Parts: sequence; C-alpha cells; structure tokens
Amino acid sequence: MKLPRFDIDLDKHYKATVVIACPQCSHQTRQHLASMAPDQPLRCSCGADISMPGSALAAARQQADAIKAAYHVR
Ligand SMILES: [Zn+2]
Repeated sequence: MKLPRFDIDLDKHYKATVVIACPQCSHQTRQHLASMAPDQPLRCSCGADISMPGSALAAARQQADAIKAAYHVR
C-alpha cells in the first residue's frame, strides 16, 4: 500500500485537521486529527484506501504540535 500524502491544517477553532491527498485521484479529504486512529479505514470518494498507518499518524501529530507551537495555541 502506498502511503498517502498529507498536510496539516488548523481550522478556525485551532483543531488540527489532516488533509489527505488521494494517491489515485489527488482528491483531498479532510479529517480532524483527534478523530483519527491508526489504520482506521478511510476512503476517498473514488474508492481508494487513504487510511493512515500509525507511523504516518505519529508524524501528523508531531506536525500539528509544531504548528500549534508556532501559533502559540494548545
Ligand atoms: Zn481518490
């Protein structure tokens, strides 16, 4: 399985949101980081599997922490 590419965004309530780019159609799916679990099945609207393994989720959490530190929010 190819690792999905993702970006971290903070929404207007400073909640970390993961923006996952589908490896098949490049459609972007947004999901709150707090509601994601490792290997939780996530599907793009095209049907591709865009779930994140634990290692990717850990990297996402680290990025979110770095962004929050930059904005001085917790
Ligand atoms: Zn897709």
